[in-house]
Amino acid sequence: MKSSKAQDKISLAEMARRSGAMLRRGDSTRFDWSASGSSPTLADLTESLFFSPGDGRIWLNDQRMLLIHSSAIGHLRRELIDTLGMARARGLLTRAGYVSGSRDAHLVRQRWPDGDAAAVFMAGARLHALEGVVKVTPTTFSFDIDRGVYEGEFTWEHSSEDDEHISAYGIGTDPACWSQIGYATGYVTTLFGQQVIFRELECRSMGASVCRVVGRHAAAWGDISEDLRYLEAQDFRSLARPADPIVPVAEAPAVERVGEAELDRHAVVGASSAFVSACHLLDRVARTQATVLFTGESGVGKEAFARRLHRISPRSELAFVAVNCAAIPEALLESELFGVDRGAFTGATVSRPGRFERADGGTLFLDEIGMLSPVAQAKLLRVLQEGEIERVGGIRVQRVDVRLVAATNVDLQAEVRAGRFRADLFYRLNVFPIHLPPLRERREDIPLLMNHFLRREAQRHGRRVAGFSARAVRALLHYDWPGNIRELLNLIERGVINVEDGAAIEVHHMFKGEALGALSVLALSSQGELVEPEGEGQGIGNLLGHLRGALGVPVLDLPDLEARLLHEAVQSCGGNLAAAARMLGLSRAQIAYRLERSDAQQGRTQGRSP
Ligand SMILES: [Zn+2]
Repeated sequence: MKSSKAQDKISLAEMARRSGAMLRRGDSTRFDWSASGSSPTLADLTESLFFSPGDGRIWLNDQRMLLIHSSAIGHLRRELIDTLGMARARGLLTRAGYVSGSRDAHLVRQRWPDGDAAAVFMAGARLHALEGVVKVTPTTFSFDIDRGVYEGEFTWEHSSEDDEHISAYGIGTDPACWSQIGYATGYVTTLFGQQVIFRELECRSMGASVCRVVGRHAAAWGDISEDLRYLEAQDFRSLARPADPIVPVAEAPAVERVGEAELDRHAVVGASSAFVSACHLLDRVARTQATVLFTGESGVGKEAFARRLHRISPRSELAFVAVNCAAIPEALLESELFGVDRGAFTGATVSRPGRFERADGGTLFLDEIGMLSPVAQAKLLRVLQEGEIERVGGIRVQRVDVRLVAATNVDLQAEVRAGRFRADLFYRLNVFPIHLPPLRERREDIPLLMNHFLRREAQRHGRRVAGFSARAVRALLHYDWPGNIRELLNLIERGVINVEDGAAIEVHHMFKGEALGALSVLALSSQGELVEPEGEGQGIGNLLGHLRGALGVPVLDLPDLEARLLHEAVQSCGGNLAAAARMLGLSRAQIAYRLERSDAQQGRTQGRSP
């Protein structure tokens, strides 16, 4: 227990080190509250929240969120207190808040790795408000990570936890914003990689008009055993980590990481119930010698599953041989699988073993097994029945010990009924079928897969990538994925290659000809209303639509539009032509010429009008 905690501290400190200059120092005097301040601004964060009412999901970037009645949480809180007592309920809620704050810190670090220190720090307060929990106003804050200094004082207004606490218990003598204290502690501690402790000195539940909280570096508080009592529980630290640890994708590839990248090239990643139940079946059958048949659409990861099965099976030390039956010409398939004896046919000048012989003692994976010819089917049946193979043109049979794993994206039973696949072979293969669901049926795995592939591809291509933009996340979460995981991987690889160094992947970096379809998604406008998100990266079509909508006209008049842009720019620069030209990417001479031309055109139009 003790050693694992020490390890956590090392890895957190390591994370802080890796973050480089980003979060070393900052303070409230240098924090720009305006909407145009440094990223992440309030608008940036608001844009990360979006609603997908059609399929029952709300997202904050790639984290699924819930819109839940404050009174329901209040009810749960009261039951926890009544069942467990004040202290234990407080611990549970503090830790749940910590998880939430820690998740938000991960999100902000990942999305804005080079963000302004104070803005990144204040993003926690803004997210806490955006999530409807509490309004946070800093009185003062300053931090210097290198010197291990953190000091912050905040007021909390409209605390939702106080609302519920007061309505259940009235005004008392103790502070009640437990999960909110957990959130603040989780956010700042995760962000800095150093233990920061928050305490609520005044609380509405104690009769104050607003809550007043103070956060300090653990070392500066003196005795924090009382704070830790609510923060520490068995296995709690592991809870605070996302299922797929967020890895600093901003990092350049390091030599020692190549091995890891190689290792997880065929990793299977997911957490959805469909995925977990497939993994559960896989773990169960891997230990046996049974033949396994993977079914599912093309691109769902059948080979990755087959490799995992081999890796956790007793045969893992021996060969794993994969054959895609559809990729080998039918005329060659038999010799490829079973080998050739010299002189079997013209050109067979040497004898060579087939894939079965090469997989002896190990696992042979036959993908797209529905493509086997009737002759190959008969031979395969014989291997399964007798454990013997016969090379093409051979005269003797050979014993092989191979575990067969097959996969198909066609309905083999239908193939049997149509007379194209042997029924006896089908029953031999169908001993232990595992169905792998298409990606659109396990959408909750998309965020995990996105992070996994992003990390892997950024490493592989030596790119520094700041995650995905909010629009890109939206597009990935709502795309239909006809090509499943393989398509997701391809799009992310494309994005990693196309994105500028250090920037976030945008929709147009990934999607080219793919039909994005209408995204039935609502996002928050800056006025806090739910609206259809604008400009989903579909290029000029959307700009046109946007302009038509903004101007309230069905058809755009380009000369008129140009004239308006020119005059607006000149006006906004107080008549300074050079400044207006810069705003439009023109030279002074060019803007003067265009102004003259458009005025002349307007004059002509007016002159001609009756
Ligand atoms: Zn309070």
